[in-house]
Amino acid sequence: MSALNLFLGSLVGVAIVAARWFYGRWRAAEARRETEMAELREAHAVALHTHTARLEATLDSMVEGLVVVDPRGRIVLANRAAEALFGFSRMMVGGTLLETLRHHEVAALAARVGAEGAVIEQEVRIERPTVRVLQISAVGLRDPSGGAAGAVLVFHDVTRLRELEAVRQDFVANVSHELRTPLSLIKSTAETLLDGAKDDPAVATRFLEIIDKHANRLTLLIDDLLLLARLDAGRVEMTFEAWPLREAAQDSLDDFGIMARARGVTLENAVPADLVARADPERLRQVLSNLIDNAIKYGRPEGRVTIGGRPLDDARVELTVRDDGPGIPPEAKERVFERFYRVDKARAREQGGTGLGLAIVKNVMQAHGGEVRVESAPGVGTTFFLTLPTMKDE
Ligand code: ADP
Repeated sequence: MSALNLFLGSLVGVAIVAARWFYGRWRAAEARRETEMAELREAHAVALHTHTARLEATLDSMVEGLVVVDPRGRIVLANRAAEALFGFSRMMVGGTLLETLRHHEVAALAARVGAEGAVIEQEVRIERPTVRVLQISAVGLRDPSGGAAGAVLVFHDVTRLRELEAVRQDFVANVSHELRTPLSLIKSTAETLLDGAKDDPAVATRFLEIIDKHANRLTLLIDDLLLLARLDAGRVEMTFEAWPLREAAQDSLDDFGIMARARGVTLENAVPADLVARADPERLRQVLSNLIDNAIKYGRPEGRVTIGGRPLDDARVELTVRDDGPGIPPEAKERVFERFYRVDKARAREQGGTGLGLAIVKNVMQAHGGEVRVESAPGVGTTFFLTLPTMKDE
């Protein structure tokens, strides 16, 4: 073997060893890179999962319903509030808005904002699964090249708000009506007096009595309205005391002696002597007055009005105001506690009531931590039940 061959042979040997060495290094580096990539992918997956879970939790904690649709109107995302509002399950994500929500107006709104890339606010009424009024904020989405990318719909349930607005409007309309009636009577009577009736003393006296009666009615109405407004706002200060109920009932009955005698009504106090409640004496007197007044007014002439009472349990006592009058029809039983609700409007006004008496009773009882309910058998009589706390905890 020549020296050259030996040299070349060693060179090849060195080259092979070097190549192996480099290959080994490369493999090790590649393996390291793969491990790093796998770790990175794992970290990304964990981050994505955390991010998605966080986003889902955020969306699910929203009070508003949220639905995201793609450009073809298919639901790609819906939060829990949206599911509850429309009564669909998350399994239905992927279906179109129209087939899932079954509401044409909502589907049309999503399509419109999606196509126009617009922002629209709209109120809709849904009938299923329950009747609700929803305020929708709809936003059209755009992809980076400006193409339609679907829409986001946010549903705000305004049912309660609209109901309260309706109650408030009814109340304002009722108050105006109740104020206008006595006012116009006062005005027309005063005009008749000025037109000459004042010159006849007998006629003048009769007309002045009419004015006086309706002015009194206005005063009662305004007093009741102001009291209710203060009760609603929690601005009536209550001073709770251990109040003996038999004496409380007697005081209230004594106030109505003249009125009862005029109608031949017998008043009876059947409250046990040892019954005590935690009550504000002045307000409780008002509650009893309203109930006794009604029992005499709407009860039977020559009838009987009885106040009774009994302990219910350690924490509560019950007072009852019973009459033997014509009663309250079953369908009106709950409604008599509404403001201005009267079973027989003409009769109630003729009796001089404001239509607010039982609403005040209900509010005062609630402020006592108690309640009021009524039972009535047509033709037999009516009983109002008051539940009051005892002084047990104090
Ligand atoms: P009002 O000023 O008209 O008496 P209330 O709120 O006190 O207003 O009562 C509401 C309505 O409930 C009355 O108009 C009457 O129709 C009915 N009502 C209340 N108490 C009785 C009763 N004891 N018997 C029959 N009807 C009653």
